[in-house]
Amino acid sequence: MATTPDTTSSLPAGMAGEARLLGKLLASFDGMLYCCRIDENRTMEFLSTGSEPLTGHSPEIFTTGGLAYEEITHPEDRMRVRDCIYAALENNERFSIEYRIVRRDGAVRWVQEMGTGVRGGSGGYIALEGFIQDITRRKQSEQALHEAERRFRSLFENAVEGIFQSTPNMGYLAVNPALARMYGYASPEQMIDTLRDIDQQLYVDGSRRLDFLDQMNCHGQVINFESQVRQRNGNLIWISENARAVRDGHGRILFFEGTVVDITERRMYEARIRHQATHDALTGLPNRNLLYDRLQQAIHGSQRTHGITAVAFIDLDQFKFINDSLGHLAGDELLKVVTARLKSCVRATDTVARQGGDEFVLVLTQQKSIEAVTDTVRRIIAVVAEPWTHNGIDLHVTCSVGISVCPNDGQDAETLLRNADSAMYKAKELGRNNFEYFTAAMNLDATARLEMLNSLRQVLSNEELLLHYQPKVDLASGRVVGAEALLRWRHPVRGLVPPSSFIPLAEESGMIMAIGEWVLRAACVQNVAWQRAGRPCIPISVNLSPRQLARHDIVDLVADVLQSTGLAPGCLELEITETVLMRDVDNSLAILRKLKELGVRISIDDFGTGYSSLNYLKRFPVDTLKIDRSFVHDIATDQDDAAIVKAVISLAHILNLRVVAEGVEEEDQRRFLMENGCDEVQGFYFGGPVEAEVFGEMCLRHIPESLLDRADQASAKRLLSIPF
Ligand code: C2E
Ligand code: MG
Ligand code: MG
Repeated sequence: MATTPDTTSSLPAGMAGEARLLGKLLASFDGMLYCCRIDENRTMEFLSTGSEPLTGHSPEIFTTGGLAYEEITHPEDRMRVRDCIYAALENNERFSIEYRIVRRDGAVRWVQEMGTGVRGGSGGYIALEGFIQDITRRKQSEQALHEAERRFRSLFENAVEGIFQSTPNMGYLAVNPALARMYGYASPEQMIDTLRDIDQQLYVDGSRRLDFLDQMNCHGQVINFESQVRQRNGNLIWISENARAVRDGHGRILFFEGTVVDITERRMYEARIRHQATHDALTGLPNRNLLYDRLQQAIHGSQRTHGITAVAFIDLDQFKFINDSLGHLAGDELLKVVTARLKSCVRATDTVARQGGDEFVLVLTQQKSIEAVTDTVRRIIAVVAEPWTHNGIDLHVTCSVGISVCPNDGQDAETLLRNADSAMYKAKELGRNNFEYFTAAMNLDATARLEMLNSLRQVLSNEELLLHYQPKVDLASGRVVGAEALLRWRHPVRGLVPPSSFIPLAEESGMIMAIGEWVLRAACVQNVAWQRAGRPCIPISVNLSPRQLARHDIVDLVADVLQSTGLAPGCLELEITETVLMRDVDNSLAILRKLKELGVRISIDDFGTGYSSLNYLKRFPVDTLKIDRSFVHDIATDQDDAAIVKAVISLAHILNLRVVAEGVEEEDQRRFLMENGCDEVQGFYFGGPVEAEVFGEMCLRHIPESLLDRADQASAKRLLSIPF
């Protein structure tokens, strides 16, 4: 065969000479030129001086047969080198092989050999000639590159984040398994094949993809780009992408590459936190913050469209009673029931919010007319008033609603809410279970309240409080047998202010605690002073406020006051209104028992205005029942009132209680009470509340019935001028 190496023929004359010449020329090259026979040892005929730096051996050692080139060829590569050379010769081609040699110093180097066969006269190959150069450094960097690529591939394959390369117009070029898993695909290939139209198939909101492309065009990157995407099975997840655009030499975008993380959990957590921050935990309704936002939006809407926005402030009338008497669980249940009912009355565009406690606020947007608002509010009052069942018992609550309307009653959220609140208070004042629209006059009320609150704060330090005393007269004997201490405020501007004008405010603001303590002390000090001055010992009644009674330390306070003033406990009577006692029966009972143990007397005030439960009354350790003056007022003319008062007197006597009738103003009333066995009376007919000095004089005397008159301070003084 023509291409078979002819190893027997000798080299043509002159060829070695030429090679030597070439060797000199190429002495300066890195690498060596060679010419060798095609025999087993690749016997060298010629080697350039590059042999020394390349192999560590002089060229002569090869050309004189001292060392075969084959021997320094790495044993693992010898066969491959030979096969490659023979194959090239067979195909009449040049060859180029990379393999290792072992240098004289034992170091292994990579070389590249490029050569060709040299034909003899007979046409067959007789020799090889070529060039061998050290490529160790290139090989090393190739290997490093290879290694780096392997590492990057492993990163890509095993990354927890999704990694992708995608084209601007078509689908994905590459995705890693994590991304395929994240999007619900069995493999990257499946994902690339299926997800061709990223805009439509992936993003829930198609415009997100347009945003992505816009940002890529403008900034060449997207950072923390969050979107909701569809998984293969249709489930929705949230992702965050960080990606950049890869461009060609002309700045045209070739593709995008980036990472994707699944942030669904974080998003859900954030949503939960956001919901918690803006919603009430019990009812799930928007809270005050969100209400504020919604109202603000509604106001803007109103301004744009000239429509009506109404704010309805709703307060449950009996919530506190239900909460206190049936417990917080019942209270919570009631709030949920009311929530559902309120929602049922409004449209989806309206807001039902819980302002706190038993207060709800509705924002009714885009109302056609004020009548439409009224209709909605009427419906609300009616549905709230429907009974609801708790533990098998039908309970009834009602609500009072105050309404303010934008723009007439305010153009900002704060004003509208404040005005609706004032209107709600008015609705309460006017008898509850109804609604009131805000009027400018109410604002005056609110301002006045604020002023009052400010001056109330200084009432104690300015020593503006004083007590008036109203006699309680024994009907049988006509004697003054007791007195009720009634608080007055000597206001620097308004003069003498009655308790009804400031006690509710003191209650609301908590100032009643300090004020109540002052009253208790002042009344006891006064009683002791009277006794020291030789007046007879009569019990003085002090009114306790609901707040005072709600705290157990009232017992300690009373004990302390008795002890520090030295008043005999029997000379102190505490008046507690019936409604207050019934708010928390167990607590009231516990406190009353302790107070009773101190030896003070207890009287139930305003009996008949609350729940009038004689059943409970039996359990309370009380001494006296005071029939509210509203019953006494028409006692002589109204048969119902007369019947009630008679029944109360006889029941109280069965329970061994003394009965006091309040607000006796007429002789008819006195006679009726006398005839029906009422024990004591209190009222203008016998004497109104008077200052301590006046009362002190009065209680020394037995007041003759014939001289009793509508009492005021002047008439009391007149009485006192009559000799005993
Ligand atoms: P109350 O305990 O029922 O006191 C009786 C109220 O009826 C007193 O009003 C008294 O002036 C008034 N009154 C007495 N006789 C007649 C009458 O013949 N006709 C009419 N129409 N009224 C009569 P006042 O002094 O304005 O007190 C009102 C309420 O304020 C008291 O009702 C009591 O609940 C509360 N109050 C008064 N002083 C204190 C106090 O020191 N602490 C607390 N917590 N509440 C107090
Ligand atoms: Mg009273
Ligand atoms: Mg009373």
